[in-house]
Amino acid sequence: MENFIYMDHAATTPVDPDVLKTMEPWFIENFGNPSTLYSQGIMAAQAVEEARGKVAGTLGAEPEEIYFTSGGTESNNWAVKGIAESQAKKGGHIICSTIEHHAVLEPVKYLEKKGHEITWLSVDENGLVDPEDVRKAVRPDTVLLSVMYANNEVGTVQPIAEIGRIAKEAEVLFHTDAVQAVGKLPLDVRELGVDLLSLSGHKFYGPKGVGALYMRKQVKATPLLHGGAQERRRRAGTSNVPGIVGLGRALELATERMERDALREQELRDVLWEGIQARVPDVHLNGHPSIRLPGALNFRVEGIEGEAMILCLDMNRVGVSSGSACTTGSLEASHVLLAMGIPADEAHGSLRISLGRSTTKEHIDHFLEAFPPIAERLRDMSPIYNK
Ligand SMILES: *Cc1c(COP(=O)(O)O)cnc(C)c1O
Repeated sequence: MENFIYMDHAATTPVDPDVLKTMEPWFIENFGNPSTLYSQGIMAAQAVEEARGKVAGTLGAEPEEIYFTSGGTESNNWAVKGIAESQAKKGGHIICSTIEHHAVLEPVKYLEKKGHEITWLSVDENGLVDPEDVRKAVRPDTVLLSVMYANNEVGTVQPIAEIGRIAKEAEVLFHTDAVQAVGKLPLDVRELGVDLLSLSGHKFYGPKGVGALYMRKQVKATPLLHGGAQERRRRAGTSNVPGIVGLGRALELATERMERDALREQELRDVLWEGIQARVPDVHLNGHPSIRLPGALNFRVEGIEGEAMILCLDMNRVGVSSGSACTTGSLEASHVLLAMGIPADEAHGSLRISLGRSTTKEHIDHFLEAFPPIAERLRDMSPIYNK
């Protein structure tokens, strides 16, 4: 859409033109099935292995520790359900934070219904997990700990390396949903001490429907998908060759530009937040003031519904989210904001803005012009705002 100001990069990102170009030959020219033995298949298999090497190299992992999946949701489901099953002899206790993405929360709740015991880790008002809480939660029958790297709603970044050290000492397998962090923050699986890590292509300018799960060599999650022998017999299904090639290239590009992109986005974001605070009274930041993703800005606007703001901003050609995109439509207050102790009515009045490569200073100026009159008009009609 021309002239549309996209400020929702945490929901998804456009495919980088360079990434698309890298993918293109793998649709029609080199369409071979990588599991076949003739040259067409071998070529496709080599492309998949090259991408695997790139992903592994970026994460500080070995290529055989990378498994391609259909995205972040599958990687998270596999980590949670697969480890619960493969570790069943050890026990059934799982530790999980309350601010996870639904793709971790729901499989964990599913296991809870099936009889697993869950310890839910709370967060402080900035959305941070306390590593000491992890230490206290560990039991002899704990089979998995899952704490996300960076939150998709408020952007808060967790002390993963510190939690990783505790997990290692306690000999508990540690999974992190790094879908929002990969391509945005420097990340090395050995330094972090994680056993499993999820990532997704479309959050770093790669295609949708392709992701990966890093699984440390000695760790074996029971497969979710049974069938062919793909992905070293751990994940059946004909490989999504163009997607995998695109993911590899996208991660390579994101890593190259990481520092530059981060600095630029953080600067624009800070200008935006200063500007909003200067123009609109009674707005409050959600999430950690500094330990947060460079492009992430989540704030609440007293007296107004997030959905009303989204619709008005859309009429002004601006795309943002309230809470998480996944809860939009269900009108439930964001579980992340509630977990941070924000009352439900204020959580409902929150906006999530996530800047990215396409964001310019002009976009920020446009927002700062469009938003204050919207907030004022909505507040005039608000039954709960009378300042
Ligand atoms: C987007 C997202 C997911 C889901 O990834 P998909 O590839 O869309 O399935 C999981 N976790 C987090 C933190 C996300 O932001």
